[in-house]
Amino acid sequence: MNNPYEHAVTQLKLVAEKLRPQYEDKSRFDNAISLLSKPTQLLADKLTIIMDDGSTESFEAYRSQHSNARGPYKGGIRFHPDVSEEEVKALSMWMSWKTAVADIPYGGAKGGIIVDPKKLSSRELQRLSRAYVRFLGTNVGPWIDVPAPDVNTTPEIMAWMANEYEKMLEENDTAHLQNPLAAFTGKPLEMGGSEGRAEATGLGGVYVLEELAKKNKWDRKKDITIAIQGFGNVGYWFAHHADKLGYRVVAVSDSKSGMYVETGLNPDKTLECKKATGKISECACDEKHCDMSLGKMISNEELLTLDVDVLVPAALENVVTTENAKLIKAKTIIEMANGPTTPEADAILEKRGVMVIPDILANSGGVSTSYFEWVQNLSGTHWSKAEVLDKLHPLMVSAFNKTWEMHEKTGDAMRLSAYQVAVKKVIDSLFLRGEI
Ligand code: NAD
Repeated sequence: MNNPYEHAVTQLKLVAEKLRPQYEDKSRFDNAISLLSKPTQLLADKLTIIMDDGSTESFEAYRSQHSNARGPYKGGIRFHPDVSEEEVKALSMWMSWKTAVADIPYGGAKGGIIVDPKKLSSRELQRLSRAYVRFLGTNVGPWIDVPAPDVNTTPEIMAWMANEYEKMLEENDTAHLQNPLAAFTGKPLEMGGSEGRAEATGLGGVYVLEELAKKNKWDRKKDITIAIQGFGNVGYWFAHHADKLGYRVVAVSDSKSGMYVETGLNPDKTLECKKATGKISECACDEKHCDMSLGKMISNEELLTLDVDVLVPAALENVVTTENAKLIKAKTIIEMANGPTTPEADAILEKRGVMVIPDILANSGGVSTSYFEWVQNLSGTHWSKAEVLDKLHPLMVSAFNKTWEMHEKTGDAMRLSAYQVAVKKVIDSLFLRGEI
């Protein structure tokens, strides 16, 4: 199944079967599931901008607002040629579950533009980002919908968006009513961003890895080998913190290719080298130096089937499929990307005894720190990085433990366990509101 929205709905149906017996009023429960099977609102339009050469170009843009039962809609904006309505709808539903499992007072949303940002100049990218905010119009705001970065969207882009939002407030004479900075998270530090936001998703995943290590009694971290697909924001920070704590990161990759270093690679040196050469496949780096004799180039597909303890997909969705699920040798998968495993592959992995730590739990450190940024903006404070990371740690540990308890109680896989925790919270909130 390559349609991510069908994938998300299939997952919701599975969890509904598990939760239904707990609810007395079955028809009320069924109504809630039916409501949660689709976004509350889907915004879609073509954004036309003036290119640097004076011509005009149009780009399809989406914002899917799935649920605000637990708080304002919350979710990233993705700039990528593969963005689609179905993808944005799926990602928005996953955000509702993620904010619920992380226990932060938000709902779920996601946005995107079909664009290859590498083909735009910085000025064109800025025009497109500002046009996106105009397209959202009154559907965005600190108490309505709070977007954040995702694939290919940067703090700089969030700064442009927050600035455009501020202009909209001024035009409507409502600038005095709210802090415009609280409408977008993932902003640069100078513009109300939070310390620690950049590394929060990767680090949050490593906090989960640490909890898992306790459960599995992985005492010698150096013996625990990790392969990470994707070496962007999430993949790099996961690699950096895992390496710092003593785990052995043996492979990383980007969209073109990957690198395998059996004795363990140094993520910081690898990043430096990738920046200098433009290719991860030329970067076999340990702590001291980079030398191709230390490792070997591998493909993205090879990375997924390496003989490692932990596999970390940290790039795009649908990379673990029926074709490669039976070839995966890792006994644990930590999903740092959103939706990297298809439901069919999930079933194969479960049968084979591979433990999958689901995306909604593993990568929730990003949205939790976005929440901290929003709290700081709304309360006019600025926390140090240590304060932010100190607040992130207990949230991740608690989300992991609630899921683990459900897993032990029901015998269900970690994904279904996390979904039971999350979907129940959203349904109970809908019921408490009396909307159903
Ligand atoms: P990014 O743009 O910084 O990095 C993406 C990485 O994936 C890059 O290394 C890129 O080369 C690689 N990649 C792209 N296409 C690929 C392909 N076909 N095969 C293999 N690798 C490929 O993005 P990011 O912010 O690191 O996000 C990565 C994933 O994590 C996404 O699924 C995103 O939704 C999810 N996520 C991100 C955050 C966050 O805070 N940034 C939070 C939660 C979830």
